[in-house]
Amino acid sequence: MTIRSIIMKKIDRGEADEMVIFLSRDQGWLTGIAKNSRKSRIRFGGHLEPFCVADLVIRSRQKDNMVWIDESQMIKGFLGIRDNMESLARASYFMELASVFLPEGQPDPTVFDFLEKFLENVDQSRLNSIEFLVQEINLIGLLGYQPIFHSCPVCGMEFSPQSEAFFSPYAGGVCHKDCLDPSSTVNIRMSPATLAALRHGLNSDSRLAGRIRLSRNAQREIRESLSAFVRYIRGQDLKSMRFMEKAGYM
Ligand SMILES: [Zn+2]
Repeated sequence: MTIRSIIMKKIDRGEADEMVIFLSRDQGWLTGIAKNSRKSRIRFGGHLEPFCVADLVIRSRQKDNMVWIDESQMIKGFLGIRDNMESLARASYFMELASVFLPEGQPDPTVFDFLEKFLENVDQSRLNSIEFLVQEINLIGLLGYQPIFHSCPVCGMEFSPQSEAFFSPYAGGVCHKDCLDPSSTVNIRMSPATLAALRHGLNSDSRLAGRIRLSRNAQREIRESLSAFVRYIRGQDLKSMRFMEKAGYM
């Protein structure tokens, strides 16, 4: 069977084979073995590189839950991503988010299509830092952890311009100061201007749009909140996120 896939990574296996971890549109995350792929340029010629979108011909293996990859057909190579360190870091981060929050064996075509479009934008260097932030919030939402910015998740009330508000990773959103749970220890202050900007940027379906305007301060507050939130729901660090921070990309 042929399945549309985004390659996440490839690891040499033995003399001639490669093990490939990929997200397929219809079957979710899979690990495949491409037999003799390091020798057969005809069947696989460069189609199994990270972030490529490819049609993979797969069949199940009896002995484990991996699959055989018999052939591949490149759909989009996205060479621009691998040419630029920041693009590579962004692509790696989004793929890692999807790999840790989308369980194996749980296909999600919406997440797949979102990632394909995102990689296309990264490949063409189309995303500025605000658009990247918006995309990140939307991906986290698609993966089931929508952070809440428009009202307090504890009391349900909106924020007045005078509200003292803090993003609480524990509550999954911005809370009034008085609503913070004592066990929520890492809280990030959100200024009223940031909250107002976020509220204005929401679409009718409560997704953020890339055209939102955010000051430097707002971007910093949102960045800190998201990083703390992702670490909280993951329960540990993400390699690609730490790399982005070290390199100064976030
Ligand atoms: Zn509240």
